[in-house]
Amino acid sequence: MNKFNRRRFLGMAAGAAGALSGAACGTSVNLGSTAAGPSVEDLDRAAATPIVDLSGLDRPVIIDSIRLLENDGEQFVHVRSKDGAEGLSLTNRRPHFAPILENRIVPFFLGKDVRKLESELLFELYRYRSNYKLQGLAFWSAQAWVEFAILDMLGRMTGKSMGELMGGVIRKEIDFYVASGRRDSTPEEEVEYLQSLIEETGAKAVKFRLGGRMSRNRDASPGRTEALITLSRKTLGDAIDLHGDANSTYDSTPAIRVGRLLEEINAVYFEEPCPFDHLEDTKKVTDALRIPVSGGEQEYSERRFRWMIANRGVDIVQPDLHYYGGMIRSMRVANMADLAGLPTTVHISGGFGFIYMLHFGSRTKDIGRYQEYKRNIERYRDWFDPKLTIRNGKLSVPEGPGVGIRNISDVIKGAKSVA
Ligand SMILES: [Mg+2]
Repeated sequence: MNKFNRRRFLGMAAGAAGALSGAACGTSVNLGSTAAGPSVEDLDRAAATPIVDLSGLDRPVIIDSIRLLENDGEQFVHVRSKDGAEGLSLTNRRPHFAPILENRIVPFFLGKDVRKLESELLFELYRYRSNYKLQGLAFWSAQAWVEFAILDMLGRMTGKSMGELMGGVIRKEIDFYVASGRRDSTPEEEVEYLQSLIEETGAKAVKFRLGGRMSRNRDASPGRTEALITLSRKTLGDAIDLHGDANSTYDSTPAIRVGRLLEEINAVYFEEPCPFDHLEDTKKVTDALRIPVSGGEQEYSERRFRWMIANRGVDIVQPDLHYYGGMIRSMRVANMADLAGLPTTVHISGGFGFIYMLHFGSRTKDIGRYQEYKRNIERYRDWFDPKLTIRNGKLSVPEGPGVGIRNISDVIKGAKSVA
């Protein structure tokens, strides 16, 4: 089903859902788009669907300590309850956010019963010391570090993997693409590099960079984008799926022009064509193109995600599991997107970020065709039982309790506290 057929189908499906729920016609958003999506009220209800399964947690789980640790280029957040349960997360390697963690987040959580994490605490944290004035990537990343560690702890306490804790695992393997982060290459060098990534990882899909990255339409080097798009398909063949990411390069008109080239090579999606907060231009591109447009990695507002979903500002939403504040907030977006029939393909940051993606992908209905893998599975593979696997273009979802790290003490052995 192509994008436009899909839209017609979704328009009918949304209409049927509205009739079933008895929603008044007047509550629908005027989309000015090719199909009517769910109403704001329906999206709010979807976002409010409970996510964390608290069964088996019959006694309070009171936070006793939260520590930021450092070792071998990684930062960890370690949480411990008064009863001695523990959980661990890996940060997205943003040490400059540490003061936010220390001053604005840790004091809030100490002494709190984290069974109320989803129902009360995340919103109270937002209000605590006017943290809402700090909202954005720096605040939400530090919140995500703590949230991941708490979910790890609750999973360990109940014997559930993160996916099981958050609604139930529906897939145990995830198809991935491997991304090139380069723009310093010629098209020929880049395609050669993509081939090396495919050989190294066994990926069946790759992503390359378009344009110049937040560059007001300037290409990384003259003619690179057009030549790379054509050459990639020609050299890599039809068996490899291709993704293009413009990282906020274009105004709508040049973005549509580049998008048409991606359509010609039958690319999977076109990511972040316009400056990330330029929702109007992004929607123009989404409306004009047949290829799905994806975006949202820098987005930090649930209401703006709601707008994008209600108005089909993008075809695929991409909250970043760290930048957007963690699993619970990201799943709220996925639940809204699901109501509109849109996939949620999360963005990931930090070396360990793909592990959280795997858990998110294990329990989310529509994650799109491929998820991002940034390589270096070797660094973490043996921490897990069973060990993580990568084969035939798929990554295995960790199966152990919580995030799946077998032994926290082993992983943080020798780590020093960050003051
Ligand atoms: Mg991107």
